[in-house]
Amino acid sequence: MIKSINPYTNEIIEKFKQDSKSSVNKKVKLADKTFQTWSRTNFERKKTLMLQLAKELKQNKKDYALAITREMGKPITQAIAEIEKCAWLCEYYANNAESQLQSQEIKTDASKSYVRFDPLGVIFAVMPWNYPFWQVFRFAVPSLMAGNVCLLKHSSNVMRSAENIQQAFKNAGFPEGCFQNLIIKSSKVEDVIRNKRVKAVTLTGSKPAGSSVASIAAEEIKKSVLELGGSNALVVFEDADIDKTIKACVQARFQNTGQSCIAGKRLLIHESIYLKFIESFITEVRELKSGNPEEEDTYIGVMATEELAKELEEQLKSSIDKGAKVILGGKRNKAYFEPTVVINVNKKSPIFEEETFGPVMAVTSFKTDMEALDLVNRSKFGLGVSIFTEDLERAKAMIPQIEDGAVFINELVKSDPRLPFGGTKESGFGRELSSFGIHEFINKKTVYIK
Ligand code: NDP
Repeated sequence: MIKSINPYTNEIIEKFKQDSKSSVNKKVKLADKTFQTWSRTNFERKKTLMLQLAKELKQNKKDYALAITREMGKPITQAIAEIEKCAWLCEYYANNAESQLQSQEIKTDASKSYVRFDPLGVIFAVMPWNYPFWQVFRFAVPSLMAGNVCLLKHSSNVMRSAENIQQAFKNAGFPEGCFQNLIIKSSKVEDVIRNKRVKAVTLTGSKPAGSSVASIAAEEIKKSVLELGGSNALVVFEDADIDKTIKACVQARFQNTGQSCIAGKRLLIHESIYLKFIESFITEVRELKSGNPEEEDTYIGVMATEELAKELEEQLKSSIDKGAKVILGGKRNKAYFEPTVVINVNKKSPIFEEETFGPVMAVTSFKTDMEALDLVNRSKFGLGVSIFTEDLERAKAMIPQIEDGAVFINELVKSDPRLPFGGTKESGFGRELSSFGIHEFINKKTVYIK
């Protein structure tokens, strides 16, 4: 049985019987069969269904959100916002997919030559618990609009949400087999990737999981997309608008109780404003209300599991051993971790070098633009960077030298259906969202007519 456990109360919410090998095969076969008709379904029909899905999400957002909150501890207002964002994503692709997938003519010596964008078939997604709906929708919506069909293996701790997503597609009227949830553990992922009916795989999660999935896909010569961890830097220059910057940095680190790949995990402050900035930053962090995730005014819930909170505690302890100093928070109680701010963080601190997936901000200072750039690029991850300054020319000069997949000026790094999302280095490869995302699982077919 796969269990959902409420990390706030420790109660077992629900148990799910795992799919047997034959039931997984049945689902894969159904997906493949559905692909034969779905891939020929016109855009008008796909658009109608996608808009119905958006409506389904909006109408039932409180129920879907509550299941998220109970399974992984996300504060309810943030869970509702997640569902609303999924509805926006459905509307975005409903309205844009057709033009994004128009054939492109290329002049050659042929009488006509062009590129068609045809679907691949069954796409398999291995997804994490931190945004149980958003991560799945971000893959499934463009895949379906492109004519592919979807299979999901969700994190074991959010199986109710996985089942709810499957139900949402059904309620919206999608044909059976367009979107199916596999109730399996990670040990069964390999068989699904190797199944000849499965054409490509995408994973959002940790490096070990990504590395394993991409290796198996490579052996089978199947396309993969990886969205892995991050350790985004927040670079604050001396001329930044302090109040706005503090608000953005607090949100960047502490929303979703710090459990986001694009969270701003390393705060780099120009030395001339270091003390003043830290003081105001801590004041703002102290205001964040911790509590029952089901209450509307809670901003910091609990972490998704006690295990994850313990791992964060270990990272903090070994950073303290290497000279880091906690100036706010630092304590854990079961799955709850206090909003924490740590200074004197050096480049060898685990909380600087590794990904911290919880409410801990690692703070350091810099003297020059070059030093800031060096600290930004020193990370093994490359998801995104935020730069805060009133001098846009100074910020723009840094952009080409930054190795990450995104640079946001005077704003926290955030995902937006209209913009591509993805990383470099150990943050993975490939892009999701926007026209770039919908082109990942596509046969870019060259047509040449003499
Ligand atoms: P994992 O990467 O272990 O889990 C993500 C998904 O991958 C889950 O569905 C999981 O299934 C599956 N999975 C795990 N191992 C394998 C494997 N070897 N082969 C195939 N599938 C696998 O993340 P965790 O939940 O354990 O979190 C650990 C760390 O990963 C976090 O602390 C964070 O650093 C990072 N992470 C990053 C995320 C991001 O958004 N980039 C999201 C989540 C985590 P199952 O649950 O059954 O194990």
